[in-house]
Amino acid sequence: MFEGKVALVTGAGKGIGCEIIRELARGGAKCVVNYASSAAGAEEVVKEIEAMGGQAYAYKCDVSDYAQAEQMIADVLDKYGRIDILVNNAGITKDNLMLKMTEEDFDAVLNVNLKGAFHCMKAVTKPMMKQRYGRIINITSIVGVIGNAGQVNYAASKAGMIGMTKSAARELASRNITVNAVAPGFIETDMTEVLPDSVKEQLLSQIPMKKLGQTADIANAVCFLADEKASYITGQVLQVNGGMAM
Ligand code: NAP
Repeated sequence: MFEGKVALVTGAGKGIGCEIIRELARGGAKCVVNYASSAAGAEEVVKEIEAMGGQAYAYKCDVSDYAQAEQMIADVLDKYGRIDILVNNAGITKDNLMLKMTEEDFDAVLNVNLKGAFHCMKAVTKPMMKQRYGRIINITSIVGVIGNAGQVNYAASKAGMIGMTKSAARELASRNITVNAVAPGFIETDMTEVLPDSVKEQLLSQIPMKKLGQTADIANAVCFLADEKASYITGQVLQVNGGMAM
């Protein structure tokens, strides 16, 4: 599926990103496992990929810093010669009701989730244009589509990613580069583990499938969009949420 392709997933040392990079590796992609603090998780997934006969390496980079993101892409090009698939998965939450939310917490979430994705997209654009091939997939959220009390910063970042995805898709379509977003609903990871049981029960009551999603559900959707066969799909938001929003 991805033989001869090079894939970079941000925030791939754990959670959804980790499953996405594994699935791309299973499809034969050479993988770059970006992490910010999960060094052990990133090294472990590299070993897993190598054990199945694939190629991968871990790369520490804070995507909210443009210089670091640009250097990461330059280093990928040095090592593997090309970059075909970029998945902007890195994300954080700093939840609070708007009245109590600090400017620092607003900025921090926007800097990682929205600007981080912008930095990596901007840095891959030239090489992808040169090779006349690219697949960019931004991991947004159901919260960016329908909103969520206590998450104005996170919702703004994820809604921003959707606007950015559609605009970049229009800019890059003629170069054979597709830009799409995947909007997970509530998926079992560290990010949702911290939710109180009462909130989880409330969430489940709103999900027609009556269960949280798994990281594999998101990885499968990403691989569908990353495949060459998805060449006529761009500027779309694929919602993977058990029917929570339609
Ligand atoms: P998670 O387990 O908390 O993972 C978040 C990832 O983002 C980690 O790998 C983390 O890397 C990385 N990250 C954070 N700041 C970074 C930075 N400055 N530079 C590079 N990487 C950074 O959360 P998750 O649930 O897997 O979430 C993955 C993505 O899916 C996020 O964008 C999230 O908003 C989105 N999402 C999740 C859900 C859900 O229900 N779980 C729903 C909708 C959308 P380190 O650990 O190395 O610091």
